[in-house]
Amino acid sequence: MPDDLFQRYQAAHRAHQAHISACTVCTDTAYCRDGALLWESFVRLQDAYLQRKRRR
Ligand SMILES: [Zn+2]
Repeated sequence: MPDDLFQRYQAAHRAHQAHISACTVCTDTAYCRDGALLWESFVRLQDAYLQRKRRR
């Protein structure tokens, strides 16, 4: 499962972008509760992905 983490990280990014463009509350620098949750999960997955990449 080499790219599973990458796929999830990309999906989280897309979900966040989709939310930002649909949400009337979120801005580039401030997110609503849902936007913040999506952002957090994206950051977590991105960190995990980048750390795994560095360890290789
Ligand atoms: Zn929002």
